[in-house]
Order: sequence, then C-alpha cells, then structure tokens
Amino acid sequence: MVSPYTLYEADLHCHTTASDGLLTPTELVRLVAELGLKGVAITDHDTIQGWDEAEDVGSNYQIQILKGIELNTNWHGEEVHILGYELDGSSSYLKGKLGGLREAREQRMFNILDRLATLGIDISEDEVRQFAQGESIGRPHIAQVLLNRGFVRSIKEGFERYIGRGAPAYVPRYKLTPEEGIELVRKAQGVAVLAHPGIGRLEEGIPAWIEAGLQGIEVQHSEHKPEDVLRYSTLAEQYNLLATGGSDFHGEARKPGVEVGRWGVSLNVVEQIFSLAKQNRLSMIRES
Ligand SMILES: [Zn+2]
Ligand SMILES: [Zn+2]
Repeated sequence: MVSPYTLYEADLHCHTTASDGLLTPTELVRLVAELGLKGVAITDHDTIQGWDEAEDVGSNYQIQILKGIELNTNWHGEEVHILGYELDGSSSYLKGKLGGLREAREQRMFNILDRLATLGIDISEDEVRQFAQGESIGRPHIAQVLLNRGFVRSIKEGFERYIGRGAPAYVPRYKLTPEEGIELVRKAQGVAVLAHPGIGRLEEGIPAWIEAGLQGIEVQHSEHKPEDVLRYSTLAEQYNLLATGGSDFHGEARKPGVEVGRWGVSLNVVEQIFSLAKQNRLSMIRES
C-alpha cells in the first residue's frame, strides 16, 4: 500500500477492536508494516487487551510495539485524555483500575439505551455488543447500531442527534480527574502523556499535571491545526516534556481521513519513551 503522504516512522496513538477501532491488533500492525512504519503504539480506551496480539505480530514484521492506553478524564467539565505508554501489564493494580473503568462504560451503555428507548429507539444490548469485539464498550458502538438500523446516516450524526454531549440521549460517565489518570499510569510504571491538548485548550492545567507526574505532551495529532502544533511544541520545550504524536487512528469508516502514520514521531521518540519507562521503573524500585 502506498500513501500519498509522507509518513512518520512511528504512530503513537492507535485504537483497535479492543476498544472502538475497526481493525484488530493484527490488521493494524500489518497495515503499519505495509506502510513502512517502524513503530506503533496500541492506545485503546481503558483496556490493554490488544497488546499481546500486537506484540506477536509486531515481532514478525520488526515493528516496535509500544504498550499504551488512553484514559478519558474530567477537568472542570472539560474532557482531558491521558495517554500512558509502556505500563506494566502484569500489575494487579492496573488491572483492577481498568476493570472499574470498563464497568462504568457498561453502566453508561445501559443508561443510554434506556434514554434512546424513551425516544422510541429500541436497541438491545446484544446489538451493541455485536460491534464491540473487545472488552471496552463505548458510544461509537452504539452510534454504529444507530447507523446500521437507519436512524442516522453517519456516526457523526448519531452523536449530534442522539448520544453526543447536549443531545437527548447523552449520559455522562464516571471519569477520573486528570491527576488520577496520570497517577494510574505512573503507579503502573508507565509514561503519562497529555493527549491532543489542542482539542480542549488545556494549557492552564499543565503545571498541576506535571506535578502529578505528567512526562509528555501530544504535539502531532490529526485534529491539531498548524498553530496547535507550534503552540504545544513550544510548551513541551518550555516544560521539558517529551513531544509525542500520533494519528488517533480508528479505521477509515469510523474516523474518515485519519490515516495511520500521517501524524506521529521519529523513532528516537520511541526510544525516549522506552528509556523514560525504564527510569520510572527503577525509581519505583528504589522508593519501595
Ligand atoms: Zn482522545
Ligand atoms: Zn484516541
């Protein structure tokens, strides 16, 4: 496959079927290999289910796999997403926390389905689960049912008319604070990175989040405008944070135009994440 764009060496923000992406970890890593990338991070929402499969396939293609996660947090009513890289997947602390977050997702799904029913739209839990192949269920899966059943003509319309913020079947979900999200990543020995800050204009929170353990900021992202890239690369330098980047790939049909590798980093940033994670592990051992 040939991309019309100059691609980065590594894409540090990709979703798979373990959460709301359309490609399985195997399909994603194969695509990454076909495109000629050398590294990819699996950053599913609230689950690490995709890691093992991605690592297995990655070793066949000499692709560096970063074990990542994305946590949605709430900061004074604003959405703040925290990416974590190279967390310890064997940590029972991490597994327990993620399990709790996924339960909150399930509860929210039931509440949304109840609201849709009051609007005359009857969707069953099973229909939603057909589109959620992995263990992390989310609104895109409900939007997919709305689309397939003909209630809307696109995923975007599903959010705007029914389940997005401000729409009649919108239900908020329990969320961590950004500090709690960062703490979760760090306690699991990972590197915590502020995701796509340009979407919410979040610079005011950054000093407190650095205090909580933030180590990086996503500068390159499919929803960042050129001025965002400039602003956040300057901030990264100013605060001595690692500048990361990724597409936020979910699959063409779910996020049209967001191609894997079109946003990302050079391979030396991957190496820097590995070395930061190692430092974090060592300092945790020293402290205990
Ligand atoms: Zn996000
Ligand atoms: Zn994402």
